[in-house]
Amino acid sequence: MKCNFHTHSDFCDGHASVAAMAQAAYQFGFASLGFSSHAPLPFFAEWNMTTQRLPDYLASIKRLADDYRGRMEILCGLEIDFIEHCWGVDQPLFRQLQLDYRLLAIHYIYHPDLPPEQYVAVDMADDQLDAYIARCYGGKPRRLVEKYYQAVTAGVEAGGFDILAHLDLIKKNNRGGRLFDEGSAWYRRAAMTAVEALAGSGIIVEINTGGLARGKTDTVYPAPWILAELQQRDVQICINADAHRPEHLTLHRAAGLEAAAAAGYRELEIPGPSGRRSIPLA
Ligand SMILES: [Zn+2]
Ligand SMILES: [Zn+2]
Repeated sequence: MKCNFHTHSDFCDGHASVAAMAQAAYQFGFASLGFSSHAPLPFFAEWNMTTQRLPDYLASIKRLADDYRGRMEILCGLEIDFIEHCWGVDQPLFRQLQLDYRLLAIHYIYHPDLPPEQYVAVDMADDQLDAYIARCYGGKPRRLVEKYYQAVTAGVEAGGFDILAHLDLIKKNNRGGRLFDEGSAWYRRAAMTAVEALAGSGIIVEINTGGLARGKTDTVYPAPWILAELQQRDVQICINADAHRPEHLTLHRAAGLEAAAAAGYRELEIPGPSGRRSIPLA
């Protein structure tokens, strides 16, 4: 069953309208499509939707859901940043919304030395991340990585989220082991704190193929060894494209399916208008 629950549009940093994304999904034969624009933040971020656009976003997706009723299920979600001491799904802004699901994402890390409303951004270009490592972590990438996984763990433990996005996003700027060794014992220990927090949390972990689509990574998020650890702890998964363009919706789905099967998964868990359900891995 083709589906995707991590879909951007021109309400945030996507490159197509919600209608164009839905039309492409329908033509690809999707049974279900969930939108997940970058939710508003309390400071300016170029890829996030503004609070002013939120009502239009919700209404547009509701209209699309009505248009496609009986042909393709359309869900309304948000990709919401969790930032320690700052922001999360428990904000009054989000609590009042009728969402089908909430994606948890760590794109920003709190650092006490930074001025108010400034955070370490982990989803940036190499040189920008390097500048943060120099400024905030004494030039030691390991300290950033450990803080990143602590933030993922805190987001999971905070609760209220349904799906964890790109669990090991921190590897995005580490192609070829440029900054740190992902096979080292300390890296595995750091990532395992998040894995252990996910066990029993009820949060679905996405296999995210968006890094592949944008040429940023050679493998899906999360890494195969992390997926295997999640599988051993009965953490449920789904496969998401993190699509910013219509053609991304199906581009690397096969890689996602392959990674799930290699980790021992036989089923996916997906959100729906009336709760979650399991579907066969296919
Ligand atoms: Zn994201
Ligand atoms: Zn995204």
